[in-house]
Amino acid sequence: MDRLHVDTVIFGGGVTGLWTLDAVRRSGRSALLVEGHRLGTGQTIASQGILHSGLKYSLAGVLTGAAREAREMPQLWRRCLLGEAQPDLRRVTVSAEAFHLWGTQSAASKLGLFGAQLGLQVTPRTVPRSEYPTVLQSCPGTVYRVDEQVLAPRSLVAALAAPHQDVMLQLDPATEVEFVLQAAGRVRQIRLHSARFGRTLEVEPQAVVLTAGKGNALLRTRLGLDARAMQLRPLHYVLVRGELPEFHGHCIDFSKTRVSITSARDAQGRVVWQIGGQISEDGVQLDPETLIERARLELAEVLPGLDLAGTEWTTCRIDRAEGSTLGGSRPDSYRLLQEGNVLTAWPTKLVLAPQVAQGVCAALPPATGSLLQPLLDALAAWPRPPVAQPAWEELRRWVPVPALPRRHAA
Ligand SMILES: Cc1cc2nc3c(=O)[nH]c(=O)nc-3n(C[C@H](O)[C@H](O)[C@H](O)COP(=O)(O)OP(=O)(O)OC[C@H]3O[C@@H](n4cnc5c(N)ncnc54)[C@H](O)[C@@H]3O)c2cc1C
Repeated sequence: MDRLHVDTVIFGGGVTGLWTLDAVRRSGRSALLVEGHRLGTGQTIASQGILHSGLKYSLAGVLTGAAREAREMPQLWRRCLLGEAQPDLRRVTVSAEAFHLWGTQSAASKLGLFGAQLGLQVTPRTVPRSEYPTVLQSCPGTVYRVDEQVLAPRSLVAALAAPHQDVMLQLDPATEVEFVLQAAGRVRQIRLHSARFGRTLEVEPQAVVLTAGKGNALLRTRLGLDARAMQLRPLHYVLVRGELPEFHGHCIDFSKTRVSITSARDAQGRVVWQIGGQISEDGVQLDPETLIERARLELAEVLPGLDLAGTEWTTCRIDRAEGSTLGGSRPDSYRLLQEGNVLTAWPTKLVLAPQVAQGVCAALPPATGSLLQPLLDALAAWPRPPVAQPAWEELRRWVPVPALPRRHAA
């Protein structure tokens, strides 16, 4: 058995845990990350990867708290993607440099004014009709271009994890992790046991950081903390694959995003559309067949003329895990709680992960100077977590495109 002192032990290797691990190590502290499944499992791998600038949260023409929080973020991400700031994200796949935005005339006509009026750094620009993407050519209203980048989440997880493989462990949280508490929220020791490897490591952490998304609730219960600090907001979204154009866009209906489409290519090279937005919120109440039918009708309305022949469809349910709010609405910003020597974080949005990492580093006690080499030696042969696969590689039940009702087919 090995026994070690470590400055920070992080639980959960989604975007928050990985960005935090990078920042904590860069601050000179020793750190260890425990992943319960595969890196990014849950929200990060399901994310649409849009680096929101705040525009989406300002569609009613008001600078909301959420927009204020997000507006500085795309600049920081852009610098990381160019290798000009840390972490170095040059290996991340940028699926799109910009988004298209279109909608009803009344909603869309105001959009051009919003960005500048509200002090957002990213403002929508009108696209001349001759430059409309093919998929929007039959749309009657104005189309805008918004310079919000879209990332492929799996490549983001892989890029964040690559420099830190030496301090990451894959362990079953239920059977291979045991906490020894001094008091509620004060962790004295963590016993890590690898069943596969037959070794135990006793870690005395100065601080514990929970970045396990939905898994934070159970971890908090085990640490004697209140699990009600977290809320879940479910989504049920649609995936379509086949002969589709690569397209990234939001269709706006007044202050709501009616559909939000991002594209990727699957392992067979087929284009896959992930359809989020209001339809994925409303879809929570629907069974997969009904949601697919609803999505088909929705696409016929918002993208008239789109040829869906030969496409295949499926749906996926996922919970967003966030800090609790009164009434259960989306929090405006990330949530970071500090109790005893435990920090718990939910970013609310992928784009806010850098703010969480900064907040964690500011809240941690100074580095103790514990040596890195004994930690690396102790971990040398332990199992490392692989990166999770996107839903379209895992889901097996795809159905052919549903026929449109006669009224729409005409
Ligand atoms: C469908 C969808 C689309 C989205 N689109 C966007 C978008 O376009 N732009 C944007 O900014 N945000 C988006 N978001 C929000 C964003 O994805 C999340 O805010 C963010 O990914 C949360 O990251 P996280 O690392 O905190 O949690 P998660 O990604 O959920 O990661 C948690 C990690 O902890 C691990 N884990 C769980 N339990 C344990 C345990 N007990 N011990 C150890 N490890 C554990 C999991 O396996 C996982 O690796 C979207 C969310 C969803 C659901």
